[in-house]
Amino acid sequence: MNISIVGSGYVGLVTGIGFAELGNNVIFVDIDKNKLAYINSGKPPIFEPGLEELMQKNKGRYYGTENYTEAILNSRVTFICVGTPSNRDGSINLDYIISASKKIGKALKVKDGFHVVVVKSTVTPGTTEEVVKPILEDLSGKKALIDFGLAMNPEFLREGSAVKDFFNPDRIVIGVKDDRSKKIMDEIYSKFSCPKLFVDIKTAEMIKYAANAFLATKISFANEIGNICKRLGIDVYEVFKGVGLDHRINPSFFRAGIGFGGSCFPKDIRALIAKARELGEDPKILKAVLDVNEEQPLRLIQLLKKHIPDLKGKKIGVLGLAFKPNTDDVRESRAIPIVKKLIEEGAKVIAYDPIAIDNFKRLFPQIEYASKADEVLDADAILIVTEWEEFEKLDYTGKIVIDGRRIEKARREAEIYEGICW
Ligand code: NAD
Repeated sequence: MNISIVGSGYVGLVTGIGFAELGNNVIFVDIDKNKLAYINSGKPPIFEPGLEELMQKNKGRYYGTENYTEAILNSRVTFICVGTPSNRDGSINLDYIISASKKIGKALKVKDGFHVVVVKSTVTPGTTEEVVKPILEDLSGKKALIDFGLAMNPEFLREGSAVKDFFNPDRIVIGVKDDRSKKIMDEIYSKFSCPKLFVDIKTAEMIKYAANAFLATKISFANEIGNICKRLGIDVYEVFKGVGLDHRINPSFFRAGIGFGGSCFPKDIRALIAKARELGEDPKILKAVLDVNEEQPLRLIQLLKKHIPDLKGKKIGVLGLAFKPNTDDVRESRAIPIVKKLIEEGAKVIAYDPIAIDNFKRLFPQIEYASKADEVLDADAILIVTEWEEFEKLDYTGKIVIDGRRIEKARREAEIYEGICW
């Protein structure tokens, strides 16, 4: 099938290249010329394991363009994968969705034949039918579900294992109302054997938020229990091993530490809270999930000050800047509040990350960056912020290590070692 993807970032690019690998022809649309140049040269503009190999392998099956009309005229389905960031008040910012919908609407006007528009971006319940649909109808002069199809297909891939996740999803959720769109969506995902859930469009939107909210809740819950365990001298990792073996619970996402970051959990929880408030609800659990997450990284500094009370002029090493391993994404990384606090306290920060330094430098040009992890070990104390595998290979002998991510070798070797929740 010929598929177009509007918004070629983490989700759009991985999804499109995944579809190409499955034998489809894919046209990527983006407003970022630089990204398109990368795509057209067969190289990913982002780091994601396995993506470059797939892009090389499928050369000729995809290309990138800024031209919406060309993309829509030459495809049967368009996936909207643009970003949905937060407004200042935490509510969802639909600017990219609106602008993409307008351009798709204009292109639909000149297209003969049935075309399906699929919202893949994470959008609050109601957005596809109350925002995207009217814009498409207005600018195309056509009627949704009759002249063109509409669907909502939330994405569950995880950065760092996005390619693997694309090919091995736990489930595929498709919100759809008309039979023709349902048939086409069924065909697109025909090679996947996981459960496929066909639901109402609004329900599909909500499934994504409920899933992210639950996972974030699991993390904040593990951290809160971990904070109590730390005071009691109990190893929270052993506790959650015992808890996770309960088949009603499941062991994933109980890694207590300095909290969650990234481009999804924080903004999606904020958007869900804002949506709930708009509806007259006061979501207490969701607010607490964010509160715990805000405090957690700063606990690392409190633990550091137990050993070095005055940080002024002290050299503090930060291991890890990405919001999690195997990605160069630093959006809402827990390294951000930590480095900010260290600077406020007058510390001299030296930081290292295998691939996220360039992105972090844009936020903090004033700190020192090490080209190798070893260089950070000379500091007066070391904070472990991201659990990169290579940090399990460093020599921590004689060092002061404050660990936010449970690096076992540091735990065994460091002269002074503090785990955030253990
Ligand atoms: P991203 O910022 O990496 O990519 C978005 C892309 O859209 C950018 O390349 C941008 O240039 C492009 N864009 C913006 N406006 C455009 C327009 N009018 N026309 C064409 N292109 C446009 O974002 P992402 O991380 O891929 O996230 C996209 C959506 O998917 C968000 O709603 C996010 O919440 C959701 N999501 C993300 C992940 C994840 O792990 N990153 C996982 C699941 C769902």
